[in-house]
Amino acid sequence: MDQPLTGIHHVTAIATNPQQNAEFYTGVLGLRLVKKTVNFDDPGTYHFYFGDELGRPGTILTFFPWPMARRGSRGSGQATVTSFSVPDGSLGFWSQRLARLGVLAEEPTSRFDEEVLTFYDPDGLKLELVAHAEEAGEPWSSGPVPARHAIRGFHSVTLAVREVEPTAELLTQTMGLRPSDTGGDRSRFEAAPGVIGRRVDLLHTPDTGRGHIAAGTVHHVAWRVPDELSQAAWHETIAHLGLQPTPVQDRQYFKSIYFREPAGVLFEFATDPPGFTRDEQPNALGSRLQLPPWLEPRRDHIERVLPPIEILAPDAEPTP
Ligand code: ZN
Repeated sequence: MDQPLTGIHHVTAIATNPQQNAEFYTGVLGLRLVKKTVNFDDPGTYHFYFGDELGRPGTILTFFPWPMARRGSRGSGQATVTSFSVPDGSLGFWSQRLARLGVLAEEPTSRFDEEVLTFYDPDGLKLELVAHAEEAGEPWSSGPVPARHAIRGFHSVTLAVREVEPTAELLTQTMGLRPSDTGGDRSRFEAAPGVIGRRVDLLHTPDTGRGHIAAGTVHHVAWRVPDELSQAAWHETIAHLGLQPTPVQDRQYFKSIYFREPAGVLFEFATDPPGFTRDEQPNALGSRLQLPPWLEPRRDHIERVLPPIEILAPDAEPTP
């Protein structure tokens, strides 16, 4: 077996309005916009990366905001929930904050001895805050949320699957995660402790139709690999399973391969390096539109086509 995977690298979802998207994740959730670039496959649209101070793997939620995108639907064969980790005792703060800012949220519940607050972003993307006493990861301390309550990074993703076994086998036998909690229709798998974003829940949804991936849904879940050498070995392993991984794609901030896991969720294996400081200093991350070298000659045109967005000052409260 290859080296076990260490956890989630990033999650990518689809939004509509870029300004509304950036305001929500920076102004409401207190994440940092660590990279403002374009969709390399569709350079007339943005690609935003939100995360901790440096956009470390395990903290990065990315969006393709397509202003004209239709609303998608959650269903089987999809990552239906993206969960963030917050410190124990913080959910009261967050419930009040979300209510004050007009965010649609549910009453906190408990699951596997953890308190969970479910809420939705402006495009209907289903999110959770999970209170957790001990977790690796440092929040971005210059955001609008006090550090003692701030998001640390990912707690987990939930995959809705019509059959648990094939995906569970990939997670455990191939990817090296271990089963931890099970309850009702939910089975949890974890990578080794010590990193942020190391859990995935399989939710057994045998009677739920397939979801439709569009605005307000997750497009793919990326897992961490340490370097390109390891990625090449994984490519071979995944190909050997018959899961048809793509060739390596250069995403500037990491290199990627993609494949569909057996239930149909798009997985990516992304390298940790080089990361978001490859083209901006740590204190300037996200401040300027960054383009890969092959799109730089078209910068003038691209900047004219993209709608301008304004990121709120870190201490500003967004208007509800
Ligand atoms: Zn990705």
